[in-house]
Amino acid sequence: GHGVVVVGASVAGVHAAEALRDNAYSGPITVLDAEPGPASYDRPPLSKQLLLGEWDLPRAALRAPAALADRHIDTRYGVHAVGLDVDAATVHTSHGPQPFDGLIIATGATPRRLPGVAPMAGLHGLRTASECLALRADFERGAELVIVGAGFIGMEVAAAARAMGVSVTVVDTLDAPMAGQLGRELGQQLQRLHEGHGVRFLLGRGVTSVRGVDRVESVELDDGTVLRADVVLVGIGARPVTDWLSRSGLDTSDGLICDRRLFAAPQIVGAGDVVNWHNPRYDRRMRIEHWTTAMEHGAVAAGNLLGDADEHRDADLVPYFWSDQYGVRIQQAGITGATTRVVRGDPDTVVVLSGDADLLTGVIAVGADRAFVRARRLLRKPCTLDDAEDAVASLLARGG
Ligand code: FAD
Repeated sequence: GHGVVVVGASVAGVHAAEALRDNAYSGPITVLDAEPGPASYDRPPLSKQLLLGEWDLPRAALRAPAALADRHIDTRYGVHAVGLDVDAATVHTSHGPQPFDGLIIATGATPRRLPGVAPMAGLHGLRTASECLALRADFERGAELVIVGAGFIGMEVAAAARAMGVSVTVVDTLDAPMAGQLGRELGQQLQRLHEGHGVRFLLGRGVTSVRGVDRVESVELDDGTVLRADVVLVGIGARPVTDWLSRSGLDTSDGLICDRRLFAAPQIVGAGDVVNWHNPRYDRRMRIEHWTTAMEHGAVAAGNLLGDADEHRDADLVPYFWSDQYGVRIQQAGITGATTRVVRGDPDTVVVLSGDADLLTGVIAVGADRAFVRARRLLRKPCTLDDAEDAVASLLARGG
């Protein structure tokens, strides 16, 4: 047979390919990626260790190429998938047709751009290693950086840039950084952390244009403010990469629409940031752009592709996300929002528990790693907010 084809050789695709072998699949596995190679790399270091220059690119590798070759996983870089013929079970690529018995779609997401702003030198997005190295090179020139978007990418880049002595201004229409994810109170605490490191915030304001002749010179805001800038980072979210599927007949209306077992069609599964699936644990559709979900998707998708229908597993995953800023770890798990209880340790550590009625549904922590780990574990079974609060408070009282 043709075996399994995986499109996308990042977290979701590589874990899926390995999970096929873990499930004793012995047929051909071909993993395609548009990136030049020679190896797949991990993205979290692109706004942390690699951007800071603490690591070089080989250290950020997801797997050594030999580790995949040893398991007879044939990884081909520089190959773009350009179309999918579902009936003919064939992916069309820049290097010709690639027929498959089973297909795993793991093409991830790509940064949103500012509408109406043309590419120019000094204007950056951050998703790939080459974008990371280009941004780092601009920081080394010593610069005035404007970050558009106070989400986690923007805030991690702000922290890295300050560590490199770059002056940083963050602009967002929201009124606190990461407010959508962390809520207003924690967002404001995060803002104070950044301000303590010299980051300037212009919040509640949008960017209307980025100007420059050969390279970026200024950024204009909707209240008329003009900010001088040598470097601009746009971190306003990402969109799922489904353009290559537009004529496939698969539903790509908001990411690749998959069922609770990650099937998009018979013999076709999705994994990672590209996927919008029905999570039966919460009885709702989700599109999650986090590392751990991508990895977990890969394992479930690969297992289900191989198994008989009665063996298929639900992707009933608990979302989890971490971010590192100035050595402080921010973590989130489950569903947060609605009812909350705030448990504080020393002034810089805080755990926020979220609930639905009296039951724990989610947790956010700033610092407080051990308390977070405990609360995350409690999410896997029914647990009352009272019990979770007691458990977290006793750990925080003992310093963690
Ligand atoms: P991706 O990593 O986006 O990979 C998709 C792959 O598909 C790419 O290699 C791409 O080249 C390839 N591809 C796309 N289209 C085609 C095509 N048509 N043909 C062939 N190949 C194609 N998450 C956290 O939880 N914590 C963090 O601290 C964190 N930090 C991050 C920092 C940065 C700078 C970034 C960008 C992301 C970070 N994330 C973090 C998110 C995490 O990296 C993603 O959730 C994860 O990479 C998703 O993996 P994926 O395999 O689904 O998709």
